Amino acid sequence: MKILVTGGAGFIGSHLCEKLIDQGHDVLCVDNYFTGSKDNIVHLLRNPRFEMMRHDITFPLYVEVDRIFNLACPASPIHYQFDPVQTTKTSVHGAINMLGLAKRVKARILQASTSEVYGDPEVHPQTETYWMRDNTIVPRACYDKGKRCAETLLFDYYRQHKLEIKVARIFNTYGPRLLPVDGRGVSNFIVQALCGEDVTIYGEGTQTRSFCYIDDLVEGLMKLMDSGAEITGPVNLGNPVEFTMRELAEMTLKLTGSRSKLVFRPLPQDDPRQRQPDITVARSTLAWAPTVPLGEGLKRTIAYFKSML
Ligand code: NAD
Ligand code: UDP
Ligand code: UDP
Repeated sequence: MKILVTGGAGFIGSHLCEKLIDQGHDVLCVDNYFTGSKDNIVHLLRNPRFEMMRHDITFPLYVEVDRIFNLACPASPIHYQFDPVQTTKTSVHGAINMLGLAKRVKARILQASTSEVYGDPEVHPQTETYWMRDNTIVPRACYDKGKRCAETLLFDYYRQHKLEIKVARIFNTYGPRLLPVDGRGVSNFIVQALCGEDVTIYGEGTQTRSFCYIDDLVEGLMKLMDSGAEITGPVNLGNPVEFTMRELAEMTLKLTGSRSKLVFRPLPQDDPRQRQPDITVARSTLAWAPTVPLGEGLKRTIAYFKSML
């Protein structure tokens, strides 16, 4: 098949492009390099099954493809809040363009949504049926409202134009090719530990997250895309094993052998207190569950950061 991956030069997108090529597909990678980089895909450029196009999906795109993974969108808070209007445009105009394309060429489309659509959740763990607590006017809103609108658009194209759609709600994912400067917990802690700098815990570090290793996540995305047409999602994809941020920091110090100190900094506005996916739906409909434990995934990620720093 000919498969379009938007955001294909980013963290998740570049791993996905690799795996799709391994499966024998032709991959068209579209990216504007806002947070992605050529370094992430340079090893694919000589592969005849791989094609790269610099393009911003807020503008129309006319290509012929069988499937679309719509991943384009900055994912870390410092990057999506850098130009919040562009973030909303990427999620909303970008989704409209990719849906228009899917409609014209009759392609199946998968949207990378996010656990952020659950906001600071009142139910724990989060199931797909939870309807979310909402604040439209805070700095994080450009990201989660854009993603929610994209989900709505997919379901409207599904009902109105009979498109084959898949919505994945991705929870915190980590691994090689995370940007060292993207301000996320995993990348900050590793870089700080390796450089001997203070490890910055926001708040008291009692807030929780559940971390999914990139290979597990990519497998989940591919299984969802390959699932029967009746499966639309939304489907939670993430690792259900929950850690406090303090536990993550301590584990990072141990695995790097670092003597950095833990220091405490103010908690960012509207930082969710706890987050853990309920993956019952993914387990039952996709026969998918993560297999890489945090310690193992962190080791591989630390090795990557070591080689790059
Ligand atoms: P990333 O920032 O590494 O990748 C996003 C890619 O999209 C980058 O290559 C960027 O240059 C590109 N991009 C941004 N705006 C674009 C535009 N207008 N046109 C074309 N390309 C554009 O982030 P990631 O972690 O790989 O995230 C990929 C997707 O998964 C995003 O949609 C994100 O919201 C979603 N997601 C990621 C996580 C996570 O933990 N990494 C969690 C939930 C959801
Ligand atoms: N679009 C695109 N590529 C295509 C087909 C459509 O980028 O191959 C864009 C097009 O510019 C339009 C959007 O997708 O703005 C939505 O298309 P749709 O056909 O759903 O709506 P309409 O064109 O009727 O507004
Ligand atoms: N965090 C932290 N120190 C850092 C960076 C992040 O304690 O140097 C915290 C952040 O406040 C949040 C958690 O780590 O509670 C996860 O943040 P990240 O940006 O990685 O993911 P998200 O908030 O989008 O789940």
